[in-house]
Amino acid sequence: MNLLSPGEEEDFTVRFWGTRGTRMMAGEQFRKYGWNTICVEVRCGNRLVILDAGSGIDDLGKQLATNCNAGEFDLFLTHAHYDHVLGIPFFAPLYNAGCKLNIWAGKLTGSTDTRNVMDRLMVEPFFPVSIETFRADIRYRDIRDNEVIDLGDGISVHTIPLDHPGRATGYKIEFGGRSFALITDTSHTPGQLNEGLVEFLRGVDAFAYDCSYVDAEFDEYPGFGHSTWEEAVRLRKASGAERALGLHHMPFKNDAAVDQIVSRIALLDDATSAATEGMVLKL
Ligand SMILES: [Zn+2]
Ligand SMILES: [Zn+2]
Repeated sequence: MNLLSPGEEEDFTVRFWGTRGTRMMAGEQFRKYGWNTICVEVRCGNRLVILDAGSGIDDLGKQLATNCNAGEFDLFLTHAHYDHVLGIPFFAPLYNAGCKLNIWAGKLTGSTDTRNVMDRLMVEPFFPVSIETFRADIRYRDIRDNEVIDLGDGISVHTIPLDHPGRATGYKIEFGGRSFALITDTSHTPGQLNEGLVEFLRGVDAFAYDCSYVDAEFDEYPGFGHSTWEEAVRLRKASGAERALGLHHMPFKNDAAVDQIVSRIALLDDATSAATEGMVLKL
């Protein structure tokens, strides 16, 4: 996608189209942290990389559908739970013959490959049309854990397996000496920092992290595969990452509740805050 004017080629921009976890919400009390489930747009120069296809991808898709004539883009899925793929059937570029994209996913429990996952997502009785109705030029790509994918144009995508029921993949995108990581959905072991993840995040400019809970409520959700705000702080400090942003905001936490957590977390670490729907980071 080439939506940038000359001189902006080296921009590295991250835009959050959805930060909600588990399911979409509605109502004014959820406006700030957002109604839509996870979708992150990453612009590296004139290239577009999308992370996850939650409901937030719908608005991004409307914008792209009218600008699909230039180039190819990439969509990486952390995993195939509904909150991360529910925007796929409604993602306009998939039905546009002028669009060309790679859809990447990996190690999804119960599936053979990315194409198979898409096939099973778009099937009766859940959805009226199959992936055969897509008009875009789509390549389904399978990734492995701990892989470094060279996307060309100086962009590399690193992968790491996450601790989540049915598995999930974390991503780090490097471009022009800068980096951004998305680490969701994942859990942690209290009192035991994930050294592999600390290394993965070492020195990144920013990472978005699964902050579904706070430490005090972590034990109430055993085996749910999510993490906490305090763990984001610990990872941020241990890795030397410049900035951590909590996301996967739970449906039972309205804006007032998240605001309260964010102000308390700021006392522990002023480099950890929250991702909100519509937020743009320039790295
Ligand atoms: Zn999720
Ligand atoms: Zn999940």
